[in-house]
Amino acid sequence: MAGTTTSMSFCSELLIDGQLLAGAGADEAILNPASGEVLTQIAEASSEQVEAAILAAHRAFPSWSRTTPQQRSLILLGIADAIEGRADQLAGLEALNCGKPLHLARQDDLSATVDVFRFFAGAVRCQTGQLSGEYLPGYTSMVRRDPIGVVASIAPWNYPLMMAAWKIAPALAAGNTLVFKPSEHTPLSILALAPVLAELLPRGVLNIVCGGGESVGSHLVSHPRVRMVSLTGDIVTGQKILQAAAKTLKRTHLELGGKAPVIVCNDADLQAVVEGVRSYGYYNAGQDCTAACRIYAQTGIHDRLVAELGDAVSSLRFARKTDADNEIGPLISARQRDRVASFVERALGQPHIERVTGAAVHSGPGFYYQPTLLAGCKQGDEIVQREVFGPVVTVTRFDELAQAVDWANDSEYGLASSVWTGNLDKAMQVAARLQYGCTWINSHFMLVSEMPHGGLKRSGYGKDLSSDSLQDYSVVRHIMARHGQQLDRQPLD
Ligand code: NAD
Repeated sequence: MAGTTTSMSFCSELLIDGQLLAGAGADEAILNPASGEVLTQIAEASSEQVEAAILAAHRAFPSWSRTTPQQRSLILLGIADAIEGRADQLAGLEALNCGKPLHLARQDDLSATVDVFRFFAGAVRCQTGQLSGEYLPGYTSMVRRDPIGVVASIAPWNYPLMMAAWKIAPALAAGNTLVFKPSEHTPLSILALAPVLAELLPRGVLNIVCGGGESVGSHLVSHPRVRMVSLTGDIVTGQKILQAAAKTLKRTHLELGGKAPVIVCNDADLQAVVEGVRSYGYYNAGQDCTAACRIYAQTGIHDRLVAELGDAVSSLRFARKTDADNEIGPLISARQRDRVASFVERALGQPHIERVTGAAVHSGPGFYYQPTLLAGCKQGDEIVQREVFGPVVTVTRFDELAQAVDWANDSEYGLASSVWTGNLDKAMQVAARLQYGCTWINSHFMLVSEMPHGGLKRSGYGKDLSSDSLQDYSVVRHIMARHGQQLDRQPLD
């Protein structure tokens, strides 16, 4: 333990080659976004430490990659149990480091994190594949799925531990070794878990290094021993990683931003839409790549929706003293809050956009921004086109459903979407036309470990969760055996 404030202490050691080590690089201040206070300083990995972590993962690969699915599964189950046993402590760290309401971190982030490890522990033991067979007379072909090698996994700040689980569990299950880098803003929960991971995993299989994207991240991405880079982050970061990865032709797994359209038809259940958007447009203060942030409302329901949603959004509880009262937290940083504020300011500079509620920085400590609803938005507006990553939802009116589908698809993003209607046939037709990795019908935001999560277009192409993720972290190989001469001349039948 190191890096204390007056009343708290935090694990601050990196995990490199099975050893817990203080970072030897520059200190990074770790903040509590709910108060703006510095919680601790975490020293990032030096260049030598990043190198050591990559080489440790490289050395650990041959033996880890030859473990059986059962052996890896048992370790993943052990990690899940260890997280579950420390769920209160880890949720407390998520709450402190992200400003999330503690009860939500405990109930949502921690449960999902544990489930992801348990899912991949099971999934790796029951994979299926192509049939073996004789596709050329005298030869038997079969397909193997093998691990890739050292994976550099780079995570964002919005759900630190859950994003770590999405990256670590499938990559380890598939037999890869890893160097994991949390966001420089939110390292506390994974560092608290590092001593446990050091005990449960063989040396070098999982290494954890902290630090910034341009320093530690870019070192990982450009290293020739790293065979794959997995990023959840911004589109611009994804582009930088692709450029760096091109030099050594690394595989990449990119989960980038989102700007989810929410198509609300005249025949939708208004109450359900209002409750759904109030919850899932603003969950985690909108810092969610699937946030229900871009509403297209049909004319017959539009005015009632704007009025009722405005009331509902203005009732969202945040920045209260009693944690259990809070429904959303602050933005991760003053910079992110100011970015959100400038998006809204520019939007309200447009005469056709109406502020229904919110649209101001919250007075008081912390990086809070008022939950905001803007109506009268048009398809070409910046606020409709660009990811805000904050508690801001727009409403755009439409007459014909085909128009709404066109507008929904008229986006650089392609991660998540939803359609709300009382007519299932209509919903299925719209779902078939939406160019998004996921479409919810009369719902939004729900994820399960068994189903793939990932995008199209500039939202990236990596699949997280589900057995599709195991495929992303492995390679298909063809093994072809020539039959013996005797067998050729005397078929068994
Ligand atoms: P970010 O891209 O700024 O940072 C993500 C990670 O990349 C961090 O660990 C950062 O240190 C690292 N990084 C930055 N520059 C790098 C570089 N040049 N080389 C290597 N690593 C580098 O993103 P963020 O601000 O932490 O997270 C918000 C973004 O993540 C949003 O755009 C959001 O939509 C996206 N996101 C996507 C998903 C998804 O599933 N598609 C989930 C969560 C967040």
